Parts: sequence; structure tokens; C-alpha cells
Amino acid sequence: MSFTVAIDGPAAAGKGTISKAVAAHFGFAHLDTGLLYRAVGAKVISGADPIAAAQALDPVDLEDDSLRTPQVAQAASEVAVIPQVREALVAFQRSFARRDGGAVLDGRDIGTVICPDADVKLFVTASPDCRAERRFQELSAKCMDITLETVLADVKERDARDRNRAAAPLVPAQDAVLVDTSDLSIDEAIAQAVAIVADARR
Ligand code: C5P
Repeated sequence: MSFTVAIDGPAAAGKGTISKAVAAHFGFAHLDTGLLYRAVGAKVISGADPIAAAQALDPVDLEDDSLRTPQVAQAASEVAVIPQVREALVAFQRSFARRDGGAVLDGRDIGTVICPDADVKLFVTASPDCRAERRFQELSAKCMDITLETVLADVKERDARDRNRAAAPLVPAQDAVLVDTSDLSIDEAIAQAVAIVADARR
């Protein structure tokens, strides 16, 4: 039986950590849909056409560690405004969402466009400063040479592009439960999310 959890929100709000933990807690599969756009962005950096790259995307393309860099994140948010790129990625995401045994998908438009009938929707957010600080810690731990100011500028630029684009803009679904992680520890944020999903399963 399928059970779909849609988790949306801006960059570095904690969606990834929460999604992985929710999936592990309930034994659901997890898809980080940002990786689809990052994989297309990485191919564009290497000279590919964005629409052709999205149409030819292979799940193996999502396993590349270099997709986590800020350069690829920017390229991802640039290709994500192209409606044909988004369309090319819809079928894969919807079939993942319907898989037997339950699925958690995190991204920007899961509850609004990809899975408007999801069993439960969360919108995970946090203040821009807080998100930039967390992403900075994460990237510094991976030894990436970066400053907090650059990370904050990157997060704000991507948020603005994601929120203001015409195709599937970043906006909470009307029936999404808001989780603001600004003042929560990782464990507290996960506990809130798990409780919301458990409630929806009753
Ligand atoms: O989530 P992540 O930061 O990896 O996503 C990278 C970019 O991909 C986002 O800034 C956004 O532009 C795009 N994206 C999207 N829709 C999704 C997931 C990601 O437009 N469902």
C-alpha cells in the first residue's frame, strides 16, 4: 500500500535531515527531489542542454557526490525555472511517491504540484540567517572554502528565484503543516515531524 509524505521548504531549512529521519522511522523510501535538479544543473555546467539533460536523466546520475556544491545548487535553481525541465521530471517523482510501503519526497513543489493528494504535507522553514549558518557549517565540515556571507547570499538568491518563478513556485500547500526549525534542535524538529506523520496514519 502506498502512503505519501510531502516535505517542502526553502534551502537548508532542515528538510533533508527531517525527511531521512521520517523515512527511517516509518520504513518508507526517501527521494531528495533537489538532486534531480542538481543533476540537471551539473550537466548544464558541463555544456548540456537543460531540457535534453532532464529528459535523459538516469537515477544513477543522482549518486554523484559533487552535486552538493554551491555552484551546482545555483545551476539547479536556474534550470528549475524552465517548465519543460520540470515536466520531464514529474513522472519519475510521481511513480516514486506511489511505491508500495510508503515514500517521503522532499523538495519545493511536492505538496502543491507533484503530489497534491499526499497523505500528509509538511512545510519546513527557518529564518534565512539560521539556514545560512547551518549550510555554512555543513559545507565547512566538507572542507569547502566558503564564507558565511557567501552562503547567506546564495540561500537568499535561490529562495527568491524559487519563490518568484512562474512554474511551480515555492509556496506552502494550503493543507501543509508548518514546522519552523529556527529554534529547534535536530532531535526536536524530527520529533515534531514524526508526530505529525504518525497522526496522519491513524
Ligand atoms: O533542495 P536543494 O537545495 O537540493 O534544491 C536545489 C534547487 O533545485 C532548489 O534551489 C530549487 O530551485 C530546485 N528544486 C525545485 N523543486 C524541487 C526541488 C528542488 O525547483 N522539488
